[in-house]
Amino acid sequence: MRILMSACKQVVQPMVSFHGPALTHINMDPFFRRKDKVVIVMGATGTGKSRLAIDLAMHYPAEIINSDKMQVYKGLDIVTNKVTEEECKGIPHHLIGKFDPNSNFTANDFKDHASLAIESILERDRLPIIAGGSNSYIEALVDKHSEFRMKYECCFLWVDVAIPVLHSFVSKRVDRMVKVGLVDEVRKMFDSTTEAEYTNGIRQAIGVPEMHEYLHCEASGSNDDETQERLLQAAISKIKENTCILAYRQLQKIRRLQARRGWNMHRLDATEVFLKHQGEADQAWEKFVATPATRMVDKFLLD
Ligand code: ATP
Repeated sequence: MRILMSACKQVVQPMVSFHGPALTHINMDPFFRRKDKVVIVMGATGTGKSRLAIDLAMHYPAEIINSDKMQVYKGLDIVTNKVTEEECKGIPHHLIGKFDPNSNFTANDFKDHASLAIESILERDRLPIIAGGSNSYIEALVDKHSEFRMKYECCFLWVDVAIPVLHSFVSKRVDRMVKVGLVDEVRKMFDSTTEAEYTNGIRQAIGVPEMHEYLHCEASGSNDDETQERLLQAAISKIKENTCILAYRQLQKIRRLQARRGWNMHRLDATEVFLKHQGEADQAWEKFVATPATRMVDKFLLD
């Protein structure tokens, strides 16, 4: 149905200009239904998935679906490292900052909401790009949802960065988050009167449980400044450590999906980008990530 509609319909003009191939495919046989196409950007935290998804969405008529299990909730924008409005560059983003932070958004919920978002994006004749670090959500959508593979063809892009380089970057990122208000963001949602409970909703996000002791002692006023400073530094170190563990686990999971489930992932090595500064880093991004990714998506859309 969509193919026939597409054949008669102009591609909806998005807010930015695009240079890639048109997404519509004219097929004269009404009984032949070509699978719709979906791009999936994967990678550990901090590797540049969001940047790549936005770069691609500047090139094609596309919209982005977030697949980070903490960014789906409203609030804690710094802690969960959500893209800012400026970074979004006018590209519509779905499933980001949308759900009650005290609810429990499951992989099943993701599957349902992401499916609806994909359909609505395709109805607008745009390319759905799923981007985020929660691999169990992507797995639930793609492999545990029998319809998905029948309906859609996927192009998996994997932004990879050598682990030691990534660890050093995410540690510095945590310092930047602290500078721009991480502590205050967590303090605002901290409730010293309730039992410490960090197993539901956004309270599971790295950056929240780690701050508990510091904020608890601050609220009770039981410590001197020096002890409080020590607790704060311990919390920041723990956040860094847990972020590095998360990155490592995400990477292992991606390798498992590739090896055991046979996902055909196109690996883009972004390590050079993280070893360079400013202009040179941007050039490395173009050379090692954005340009090869665009070539892969061009081919995927034209095949
Ligand atoms: P699984 O659910 O099987 O452990 P997954 O790949 O779906 O794997 P991840 O996305 O790796 O899960 O997240 C695991 C945990 O890491 C989350 O429960 C949360 O504590 C933390 N986390 C993930 N993303 C973020 C984020 N953007 N900000 C802060 N913490 C996060």
